[in-house]
Amino acid sequence: MSFFEAEDPAFSTFVLGNAPLKKLAGGFDWVEGPVWFGDHDCLLFSDIPNNRILRWSPTLGVSTFREPSNFANGNTRDREGRLVTCEHGERRVTRTGHDGSVTVIADRYDGKRLNSPNDVVVASDGAIWFSDPHYGIASDYEGTRSEQELPCNVYRVDPRSGEIRPVLTDFNCPNGLAFSPDERRLYVADTGRMFSDDPRHIRVFDVGDDWALSGGEVFHVISPGCADGMRVDAAGNLWSSAGDGVHCIAPDGRRLGKILVPETVSNICFGGRHNHRLFITATTSIYAVSLAIRGAGRRA
Ligand code: MG
Repeated sequence: MSFFEAEDPAFSTFVLGNAPLKKLAGGFDWVEGPVWFGDHDCLLFSDIPNNRILRWSPTLGVSTFREPSNFANGNTRDREGRLVTCEHGERRVTRTGHDGSVTVIADRYDGKRLNSPNDVVVASDGAIWFSDPHYGIASDYEGTRSEQELPCNVYRVDPRSGEIRPVLTDFNCPNGLAFSPDERRLYVADTGRMFSDDPRHIRVFDVGDDWALSGGEVFHVISPGCADGMRVDAAGNLWSSAGDGVHCIAPDGRRLGKILVPETVSNICFGGRHNHRLFITATTSIYAVSLAIRGAGRRA
């Protein structure tokens, strides 16, 4: 039985019939934050409870990139190819320079400490957008239980001034973020507060010329499970983590199909030689599958 489950004929055009869903490595606790470094032919990803960022390469397998990682979660690259990382432990977003030096991008707003930055994207103007739910400070599992000082917002860091500003303030717990290819839309997952019955869904915002957000209606409700990390392909479809794998959602909100994965998926990213290989972090393992469609650039 195929691990591809088409629910719309369009989905079949994204699928390479004989491409395997390959388990690349396993034995982790909760993997997240995958990011592809084509220039180093490797994937970086976080193993959050084990306080480390790991590196997988097709020739060398898994090695340690950073340990301790301050309970790092989401990772991405900025416009200069530098690593940008969300850290639960230090409650901050950092940038790692090409020389390995670490710079703090954001750790406070209005004099108060951030909660536990979770996921991050960099827009074409170089601005860094990140979500700040409470998961990393709500227990001692993915960080250290600590007092919450700020609401769970989405923030934008201005690329010129470095100023940090809340741009979404009506979420319970914002999580994964993804821009559409033309950056006229921003998708943000709300995964709800821990130990609550908060709704879990993906909302969509219109992005104005000045990057101001409007709208914000519910775009799609993932089931089973919920949307954590998400990415957009070159045609504007949203690929979302889900309880039973990865779901592909059309720009109109319809689910087109699924990639069934044996473990709960936390996050995904496009990578590989032609940016058409989908890397999947799923609970204790990482997987990959080649698709017949490419990711929307490195940033999406
Ligand atoms: Mg996340």
